[in-house]
Amino acid sequence: MKVYNLACPLEHHFEGWFASEADATQQQENGLLTCPICDSHEIVRLPSAPRIAKSSSREIAPVPAVEVTQESGNSMVLSGTEHANLQAQVQATVMKAMRDLMKKTEDVGHDFAEEARKIHYREAPERSIRGHATADETAELREEGIEVVSLPIFPALKDTLQ
Ligand SMILES: [Zn+2]
Repeated sequence: MKVYNLACPLEHHFEGWFASEADATQQQENGLLTCPICDSHEIVRLPSAPRIAKSSSREIAPVPAVEVTQESGNSMVLSGTEHANLQAQVQATVMKAMRDLMKKTEDVGHDFAEEARKIHYREAPERSIRGHATADETAELREEGIEVVSLPIFPALKDTLQ
Protein backbone atom coordinates (compact mmCIF):
# COMPACT_ATOMS: atom_id res chain seq x y z
CA MET A 1 0.00 0.00 0.00
CA LYS A 2 1.33 3.39 -1.05
CA VAL A 3 0.18 6.69 0.32
CA TYR A 4 0.78 9.86 -1.68
CA ASN A 5 0.16 13.46 -0.91
CA LEU A 6 -1.95 14.85 -3.72
CA ALA A 7 -3.05 18.35 -4.66
CA CYS A 8 -5.41 19.97 -7.13
CA PRO A 9 -4.83 23.33 -8.96
CA LEU A 10 -6.74 25.06 -6.18
CA GLU A 11 -4.13 23.90 -3.66
CA HIS A 12 -6.44 21.40 -1.93
CA HIS A 13 -4.15 18.86 -0.38
CA PHE A 14 -5.30 15.33 0.32
CA GLU A 15 -3.96 11.80 0.59
CA GLY A 16 -4.36 9.06 -1.99
CA TRP A 17 -3.98 5.40 -1.15
CA PHE A 18 -2.78 3.13 -3.93
CA ALA A 19 -1.85 -0.51 -4.32
CA SER A 20 1.49 0.49 -5.84
CA GLU A 21 3.33 3.38 -7.43
CA ALA A 22 2.32 2.04 -10.88
CA ASP A 23 -1.30 2.02 -9.77
CA ALA A 24 -1.01 5.63 -8.63
CA THR A 25 0.60 6.69 -11.93
CA GLN A 26 -2.03 4.85 -13.96
CA GLN A 27 -4.95 6.39 -12.08
CA GLN A 28 -3.34 9.81 -12.38
CA GLU A 29 -2.80 9.45 -16.16
CA ASN A 30 -6.33 8.16 -16.72
CA GLY A 31 -7.79 11.09 -14.79
CA LEU A 32 -9.28 8.80 -12.20
CA LEU A 33 -8.02 10.93 -9.36
CA THR A 34 -10.38 13.64 -8.23
CA CYS A 35 -10.09 16.32 -5.57
CA PRO A 36 -12.50 15.46 -2.73
CA ILE A 37 -13.17 19.16 -2.23
CA CYS A 38 -13.57 20.70 -5.69
CA ASP A 39 -13.85 17.57 -7.84
CA SER A 40 -10.95 18.67 -10.04
CA HIS A 41 -9.34 15.92 -12.13
CA GLU A 42 -6.02 17.73 -12.57
CA ILE A 43 -4.32 16.07 -9.65
CA VAL A 44 -0.61 16.34 -9.05
CA ARG A 45 1.46 14.19 -6.78
CA LEU A 46 3.43 16.07 -4.11
CA PRO A 47 6.78 14.97 -2.80
CA SER A 48 5.68 12.61 -0.09
CA ALA A 49 7.14 12.84 3.34
CA PRO A 50 7.64 9.57 5.18
CA ARG A 51 4.49 8.84 7.16
CA ILE A 52 6.43 8.09 10.31
CA ALA A 53 7.87 11.61 10.29
CA LYS A 54 4.41 13.01 9.73
CA SER A 55 2.88 11.22 12.69
CA SER A 56 5.75 12.11 14.98
CA SER A 57 5.49 15.77 14.03
CA ARG A 58 1.83 15.55 14.98
CA GLU A 59 2.76 14.21 18.40
CA ILE A 60 5.04 17.10 19.19
CA ALA A 61 2.48 19.66 18.14
CA PRO A 62 2.88 22.56 20.53
CA VAL A 63 0.31 22.70 23.29
CA PRO A 64 -0.76 26.25 24.02
CA ALA A 65 0.64 27.27 27.34
CA VAL A 66 -1.93 28.43 29.84
CA GLU A 67 -0.67 31.08 32.15
CA VAL A 68 -2.31 30.85 35.54
CA THR A 69 -2.10 33.85 37.78
CA GLN A 70 -3.44 34.27 41.29
CA GLU A 71 -5.67 37.11 40.13
CA SER A 72 -7.50 35.02 37.52
CA GLY A 73 -10.65 33.16 38.39
CA ASN A 74 -12.40 32.87 41.70
CA SER A 75 -10.12 30.42 43.41
CA MET A 76 -8.03 32.02 46.06
CA VAL A 77 -4.50 30.92 46.57
CA LEU A 78 -2.84 31.41 49.87
CA SER A 79 0.85 31.24 49.18
CA GLY A 80 3.37 30.34 51.80
CA THR A 81 4.50 33.95 52.09
CA GLU A 82 0.98 35.24 52.54
CA HIS A 83 0.30 32.60 55.13
CA ALA A 84 3.35 33.67 57.07
CA ASN A 85 2.21 37.29 56.84
CA LEU A 86 -1.21 36.28 58.12
CA GLN A 87 0.32 34.50 61.08
CA ALA A 88 2.41 37.55 61.84
CA GLN A 89 -0.67 39.76 61.65
CA VAL A 90 -2.65 37.51 63.98
CA GLN A 91 0.24 37.36 66.41
CA ALA A 92 0.64 41.15 66.29
CA THR A 93 -3.08 41.63 66.97
CA VAL A 94 -3.01 39.23 69.91
CA MET A 95 0.16 40.82 71.26
CA LYS A 96 -1.41 44.26 71.10
CA ALA A 97 -4.53 42.99 72.87
CA MET A 98 -2.32 41.42 75.52
CA ARG A 99 -0.38 44.65 76.01
CA ASP A 100 -3.63 46.60 76.36
CA LEU A 101 -4.83 44.05 78.86
CA MET A 102 -1.64 44.42 80.88
CA LYS A 103 -2.01 48.19 81.03
CA LYS A 104 -5.48 47.75 82.52
CA THR A 105 -4.57 45.02 84.98
CA GLU A 106 -2.45 44.91 88.07
CA ASP A 107 0.32 42.36 88.14
CA VAL A 108 0.06 40.38 91.36
CA GLY A 109 2.50 37.73 90.23
CA HIS A 110 2.27 34.42 92.05
CA ASP A 111 -0.24 35.80 94.54
CA PHE A 112 -2.87 35.67 91.81
CA ALA A 113 -5.06 32.93 93.34
CA GLU A 114 -4.96 34.52 96.79
CA GLU A 115 -5.60 38.02 95.46
CA ALA A 116 -8.42 36.85 93.16
CA ARG A 117 -10.08 35.16 96.13
CA LYS A 118 -9.74 38.34 98.25
CA ILE A 119 -11.33 40.43 95.50
CA HIS A 120 -14.10 37.88 95.07
CA TYR A 121 -14.92 37.93 98.79
CA ARG A 122 -14.54 41.72 98.87
CA GLU A 123 -11.54 41.57 101.15
CA ALA A 124 -9.62 43.62 98.61
CA PRO A 125 -10.62 46.48 96.29
CA GLU A 126 -12.33 45.27 93.13
CA ARG A 127 -9.97 45.52 90.17
CA SER A 128 -8.58 43.52 87.32
CA ILE A 129 -5.49 41.60 88.12
CA ARG A 130 -3.16 39.32 86.29
CA GLY A 131 -0.58 36.89 87.49
CA HIS A 132 0.42 33.29 87.67
CA ALA A 133 -1.62 30.41 88.96
CA THR A 134 -1.13 26.69 88.83
CA ALA A 135 -3.68 24.45 87.14
CA ASP A 136 -4.86 23.31 90.61
CA GLU A 137 -5.25 26.91 91.82
CA THR A 138 -7.18 27.82 88.68
CA ALA A 139 -9.48 24.83 89.14
CA GLU A 140 -10.11 25.77 92.79
CA LEU A 141 -10.92 29.36 91.87
CA ARG A 142 -13.41 28.20 89.27
CA GLU A 143 -15.03 25.84 91.77
CA GLU A 144 -15.56 28.85 94.05
CA GLY A 145 -17.25 30.65 91.17
CA ILE A 146 -14.37 33.02 90.46
CA GLU A 147 -14.05 33.67 86.78
CA VAL A 148 -10.47 33.51 85.65
CA VAL A 149 -9.15 33.40 82.14
CA SER A 150 -6.02 31.61 81.08
CA LEU A 151 -4.00 33.56 78.56
CA PRO A 152 -1.50 32.18 76.14
CA ILE A 153 1.79 33.89 76.75
CA PHE A 154 3.98 34.41 73.71
CA PRO A 155 7.68 34.02 74.28
CA ALA A 156 8.21 37.67 73.30
CA LEU A 157 5.76 38.79 75.96
CA LYS A 158 7.23 36.71 78.75
CA ASP A 159 10.05 39.19 79.13
CA THR A 160 7.57 42.04 79.43
CA LEU A 161 5.67 40.18 82.14
CA GLN A 162 8.64 39.47 84.36
ZN1 LIG B 1 -9.54 20.86 -5.19
